[in-house]
Amino acid sequence: MTLPFFFDFNLSELVKHPVFADQPDYRAMQVWQQVYTKLKFDPMQINNVPLELRRKMKDAFDFEPVTVAQKVSGEGNQAEKIAFNLSDGAKIETVLMRYTERNTICISTQVGCGMGCVFCATGQMGFTRNLETAEIVGQVMYFAKILREEGSALTNIVIMGMGEPFVNYDAVLKSIDILNDPDGFQFGERRITISTVGIVPMIEKFTLAKRQINLAVSLHAPTNAIRDKILPINKTYPIEKLLIACNDYAKYTKRRISFEYALIDGVNDSLEDATQLAHLLKGMLCHVNLIPLNPTRNYGGKGTKSDHVKAFYSTLTRAGIPCSIRISRGVEIGAGCGQLVNKE
Ligand code: SAH
Ligand code: SF4
Repeated sequence: MTLPFFFDFNLSELVKHPVFADQPDYRAMQVWQQVYTKLKFDPMQINNVPLELRRKMKDAFDFEPVTVAQKVSGEGNQAEKIAFNLSDGAKIETVLMRYTERNTICISTQVGCGMGCVFCATGQMGFTRNLETAEIVGQVMYFAKILREEGSALTNIVIMGMGEPFVNYDAVLKSIDILNDPDGFQFGERRITISTVGIVPMIEKFTLAKRQINLAVSLHAPTNAIRDKILPINKTYPIEKLLIACNDYAKYTKRRISFEYALIDGVNDSLEDATQLAHLLKGMLCHVNLIPLNPTRNYGGKGTKSDHVKAFYSTLTRAGIPCSIRISRGVEIGAGCGQLVNKE
């Protein structure tokens, strides 16, 4: 018999679980706090509750939705990629990036992805399934524990690993609620970023939810002609519709939106493209992140050379668009943006 994952429950669901039926009201909260503040993922270690209950919890919950299959580190340990096994044998990858003052993890939300962006390794493998809440929370808990044991802490979460988070909206938002719980892990929404390829109705839904979570949108092109070729979803939600949703988001939430722009040599990186991009974004509360494309096996395009990246950046800046140049961490271990896969 397969047990339900502990990390699938939020606190109000946990309280109602049968293992707590004959217990005082505060019991589930005690367990919740031990799990999410002390990071005890073995119920036998939760030693402020009766032994009998600890045993029952061991028989009632599975605390390991993700288990390590493989670890790879690069750049002097600054980037670490973990391949996790899921209970059905599927694999996902998660990346930890250590900076001087931050420890950021990039987590996955699906096994594969059905959006088919041509330059993305995850897109190239196609869609297998959505992750469950517990599999999303489990990735975070794994790294939270590793960092805690090192005397450090997780500071940021970017939902930019494998998969399109807005196709798995409910599980993603529930995971964030669990991580955010004031009696538990207390991870602030402002330290979380969700990146979407641009599923317009879900951006609208997210806007109305008025969350404190940061939103990033993968734009990658200033025209439908270019975007159609690299992001097939653009045929369903073209740039003009996408930008209306983005504008509404910025206006309604008063939060700055980030646009991701992977610079691909000769595809979307002309200075005319930069000017058109500036024109599109003029007046919006936003920031553009320019990332030279990382190589992937099934796409021949190359990342823009650094001199030209600077020229593209200057064109945007001069036109009054706030932007930065980002270099992906972990490229040599296949942990850079768009390089995550579930290989055997
Ligand atoms: N599905 C979501 C989040 C995961 S992808 C999305 O598409 O936004 C995270 C980011 O990596 C996206 O901005 C995506 O466009 C970008 N990306 C994908 N492949 C890349 C590559 N080969 N080089 C650089 N960025 C890439
Ligand atoms: Fe999916 Fe994002 Fe990759 Fe596109 S870039 S295929 S949406 S993971």
